[in-house]
Parts: sequence; C-alpha cells; structure tokens
Amino acid sequence: MPDTEFLPELAERFAAKGVRLHSFLRDQGAIAGLGRRLANEVCHRAKLSPFASTKSLGIDGAKKVVAAIHEAIDEGLAYERGRPDMSSSADRPGGVHHRAGQPCPVCGDTVREVSYAKYSVNYCPTCQTNGKVLADNTTSKFLK
Ligand SMILES: [Zn+2]
Repeated sequence: MPDTEFLPELAERFAAKGVRLHSFLRDQGAIAGLGRRLANEVCHRAKLSPFASTKSLGIDGAKKVVAAIHEAIDEGLAYERGRPDMSSSADRPGGVHHRAGQPCPVCGDTVREVSYAKYSVNYCPTCQTNGKVLADNTTSKFLK
C-alpha cells in the first residue's frame, strides 16, 4: 500500500480536527487537492459515512481513506487519458457524486443527497451508513 508513512499523521489530523469526514476532505488546510466530487467519491469508496466524525476513524479509517483517494484519482486519470478533450466534473466516472436517485454501482441501493448552499453530499446508505438514510436538509433543516 502506498503512503503508509503518512497514515499516522493523517490519523492524528483526524483526531485533532473532530469534524465530519466530508468536511475534512474538502478542507484544503487538512488535506490538499480534493474537491467536492472527490470528497463524495472517497467516502463512498472507503465505505465510510460522509458525516462520520474524524475523531472516530483512527488508523484504520486513515488507511481506508488513503486507499480510496488513490483509487478515485487513478480512475479519474485513466478516464481523462481516454478522452480527446478535457471532461467536466459532472462527466467523470464515479459511484455517487451527482448521482442522487440512481442505483449505487456497488450494491444497487439508491444514492442519496444532502444539499448545502455550495455543495451536495452524496452517499449510499447500504455502503456507507449501515442502511441509515440521513435527513435530507432540503426538507429538514436539522441534520445530524
Ligand atoms: Zn452502495
């Protein structure tokens, strides 16, 4: 596995931050270079809830997240290299990002969405939240 020397540091940052995993992944001060799409895709690939507290993840969570980042980026690059032009983010392959209402490519469950002003969190309940469907704040403002 690549980047194993980085795992303890990532686990420390998880513990120090104590924020939702999706927020951590988008925080350029915590881990640079991931945007909204990859934050969704990395959580899905890692089979972790985007709303999990980073305090709960530990070294096992760090391993899953690092592996998922590599997979998601490698897949995205392979896709770009196979095209004659640059794709837009919405075109790129993925499991959950901008796929609310569609079947999860891994398990077939329906991909869900929680929307915020500037981004949406997409996730698969079966893969990521033990089947729990989180409140969609387009109808409920009190998401936990
Ligand atoms: Zn799934």
